[in-house]
Amino acid sequence: MRSPRPADGASTRSGKVPSPQSLIRPMIQAIHGYTPGEQPKIKRLIKLNTNENPYPPAPKVLKAIREAVDGRLRLYPDPSAFPLRKALAGLHECKPENIVIGNGSDDILALLTRAFVEPFDGALELPVSRVPSRYLIQYLSPCYSLYPVLARIHGARVNAVPLEADFGLPSVATLKSGGAWRFDAALTFITTPNAPSGRGYSTVELENLVKAQRGLVVLDEAYVDFAPEHAMELAFKYSHVVVSRTFSKAYSLCFQRVGYAVGHPELIAALDKIRDSYNVNGLGQIAAVETVAQIPHYRRQFGRILASRESLARGLTRLGFRVLPSSTNFLLVKPPKGEASAWLDWLKERRILVRWFAAPEVRDYLRITVGSESEVVAVIRAARSILKNL
Ligand SMILES: *Cc1c(COP(=O)(O)O)cnc(C)c1O
Repeated sequence: MRSPRPADGASTRSGKVPSPQSLIRPMIQAIHGYTPGEQPKIKRLIKLNTNENPYPPAPKVLKAIREAVDGRLRLYPDPSAFPLRKALAGLHECKPENIVIGNGSDDILALLTRAFVEPFDGALELPVSRVPSRYLIQYLSPCYSLYPVLARIHGARVNAVPLEADFGLPSVATLKSGGAWRFDAALTFITTPNAPSGRGYSTVELENLVKAQRGLVVLDEAYVDFAPEHAMELAFKYSHVVVSRTFSKAYSLCFQRVGYAVGHPELIAALDKIRDSYNVNGLGQIAAVETVAQIPHYRRQFGRILASRESLARGLTRLGFRVLPSSTNFLLVKPPKGEASAWLDWLKERRILVRWFAAPEVRDYLRITVGSESEVVAVIRAARSILKNL
């Protein structure tokens, strides 16, 4: 089949057709989309840039997916992912009505934005302190870099307030005296444990913040399986708290795109109302149901990843790196010499891909995903050889 020629400048009987550019809303034209980590197809690359689990899904999960690949692919999947919600309700000791499934937790975060924040209607020129709370998405930065993108797409205003210098959560008293934090913001995102720093927060300090907020608080627990504690109880104790989780990072299912939100049934029903009817693909649902059945397998694996995290931290510390404490499957580290952005290239030359962020709070650091035991050894060896040449 011949592909049609671009319609640019084509004429119709009524005159020139509009250019594609002129059809796009100015707000969308101005947006910088989210920048995902690279997914290169280089052979023998050690890929430590997007916090994927170094190990494959449990054998029974792979088997369940394989066995589902047949003529049934022509059918639509369960629209509400009920079997998965039921399995998760068992895991979290709640009801399926407390849970909505997303096409990855990114889908959940987008749904939350659309359900709980009013897009602007001309309040743009107001300083954030005077923007009515219903337009406000708020977070403590640095954090997951998707939040500002979601806010831009939706047309919400952003209130970004810095974390403490050590990436700790500021106390309510500190936030009050700082004056910039909005206790009435329609939606507050907290990345907990924090990304990109890796720092974990206790349920007690999260609860203190939650209690002071009058809008919705979303606890984005993408990395919580690698942390000493989680804050799921807050989603049941407070009707203005939603916890977001994902099968991507800890459960080796990035490829399948399954995440979920837990919260009060009325909040969940609002998200359910606006999601796509078939937002979660069938194979993803099957993989996630079997994953929940295999939790003990994954818990053993987390122990292995935590041991690797400790050896990576120890090895890099010995070489003079500043290694920040981590409750996740990655480390934020500051090289002893040389620009962090240059280290990104030096490691790439040695077939190791890590992540570097230009944001001022973290630009002196590299974020390194905790890989397998042999990958950890390779990172330390590469760092040692780079340092020798500096
Ligand atoms: C990776 C990540 C997500 C999104 O994960 P999905 O693959 O969309 O489920 C959400 N929040 C944080 C903090 C993440 O790092």
